[in-house]
Amino acid sequence: MKRTLFFSLAGSLLVFINFSFALSKDELMGKISAHQHPDFVRFVSGGRVFSLRREAYAALAAMTEAAKKDGISLVVVSAFRSFDDQKRIWETKWKRFASSYPDPVKRCKAILRYSSAPGTSRHHWGTDVDLVSVDPAFFKTKEGQRILAWLETHAPSYGFERPYTPLSQRNGGYEEEPWHWSYRPLATNYLSLYTNTITQEDITGFSGDNALKEVDILSYILGISPTLLP
Ligand SMILES: [Zn+2]
Repeated sequence: MKRTLFFSLAGSLLVFINFSFALSKDELMGKISAHQHPDFVRFVSGGRVFSLRREAYAALAAMTEAAKKDGISLVVVSAFRSFDDQKRIWETKWKRFASSYPDPVKRCKAILRYSSAPGTSRHHWGTDVDLVSVDPAFFKTKEGQRILAWLETHAPSYGFERPYTPLSQRNGGYEEEPWHWSYRPLATNYLSLYTNTITQEDITGFSGDNALKEVDILSYILGISPTLLP
């Protein structure tokens, strides 16, 4: 009896580990419906509906509650984004940047200053959120500075860290994003899975994907704060 229980516990633990850490290629690239995924939860923030992995959401909810007590409102601007969501963002910029950057490789690099290519965003994992505002100018205001200071002090104790710190503190990648926070306990494992599973050939299925093959996309994926590297 005891032995059976031991094996069934060990079995559940393995299933648990599988659920937590082993993501499929599609999951790593956002090719899922978060609404139908058992590991995701839907929630409302600022009157809009978002999705995150359950564990990341629980940590975010606790952090939001603590912030509220200090008079800080952590409204979510973006959370999980699917491959198709990212494709819409990318292709809108692809068209908008066409006249300024007729060369397709230069156009990719211009978009990559702030936006990731479909299939390469940390938002695909359900571990990352954009908080309060995605306008760099806001974080230069007094209110923006107050919110950022609160997050920098408290977010790590809830598991959240900034991947896109000032460029001077990183080895290349996207521009600084004071709004983007990543749930480290899951995201670091996913990044490691991602770099072991996804190749440049997988990153396809959108305008400019051929030109993107000329860009070292891994330098963007790994161009994050060293504290979030596996
Ligand atoms: Zn973001």
